[in-house]
Amino acid sequence: MKTLRECVAEAQQKKVAIGHFNISNLEGLWGVFKAAYSLGVPVIIGVSEGERDFVGVHQAKALVDSLRKEYNYPIFLNADHTYSFDRVKEVIDAGYDSVIFDGANISFEENVKLAKQCVDYARACGRDVLVEGELGYIGQSSKILDEIPEGVSFDDASLTSPEKAKEFVDATGVDMLAPAVGNVHGMLRGGVDPKLRIDLVKSISETVGIPLVLHGGSGNSGEDFKAAIAHGVVIVHINTEIRVAYKKGLQLALQENPDEVAPYKFLREAVKEVQAVAEAKLRLFNNL
Ligand SMILES: [Zn+2]
Repeated sequence: MKTLRECVAEAQQKKVAIGHFNISNLEGLWGVFKAAYSLGVPVIIGVSEGERDFVGVHQAKALVDSLRKEYNYPIFLNADHTYSFDRVKEVIDAGYDSVIFDGANISFEENVKLAKQCVDYARACGRDVLVEGELGYIGQSSKILDEIPEGVSFDDASLTSPEKAKEFVDATGVDMLAPAVGNVHGMLRGGVDPKLRIDLVKSISETVGIPLVLHGGSGNSGEDFKAAIAHGVVIVHINTEIRVAYKKGLQLALQENPDEVAPYKFLREAVKEVQAVAEAKLRLFNNL
């Protein structure tokens, strides 16, 4: 069975990206897994602090492991945006494959210090755990936005600079970096986000020399994804579009069968909608 590090290296070499999809429950997990399995591509399940408070830190791990073992399949578990060392430690101890320390909204110095502490803990844990760092603020909520969130701007001074990124990566030893390159968490109502700065993706990638992770992928165009993946992005995060799909499936099923009370029946539509969105993204990210 390939490790996440091996899958990331393979994606980098093939110039494709691994899809990262967040889940809040078992239906979301099945939707994403079925999509990946039908295409035969590796996939990462993400759980943010809020999502793992709901699912359970250890329960998320057990669920993903159950699929990995039963299907002998490269499905991995990532602790998405984690804001403290204690919560990073918690998921490393729980057996997660990777973790994101998100210090994008604190000072550069504090971000470096805490990210380094997370990397040191991961290296000493006895397993190969990938640690991702964040540089550049892109908002924090995976939801439908009426406007660009406060604190997010797309001028050069607010986006991640290749020099700062290099300093951050050298000082912390993170395995992967999530930059701010015109991406934003959530997606604008209407579903079309601002264009990505592909020139910046390219120069950051060439400067830092480690895989880049694109967050806030919901709402970005296929063309932007292709260009970003061609220039150093190895993992793409999709959350809002998955959430929207889940809710749409659930609403449709309840509207069409208002007397249905069996959750396994009305939740089937939610699984299907999630699967369809995940599959379309995975095809795009993997050139299928
Ligand atoms: Zn994110």
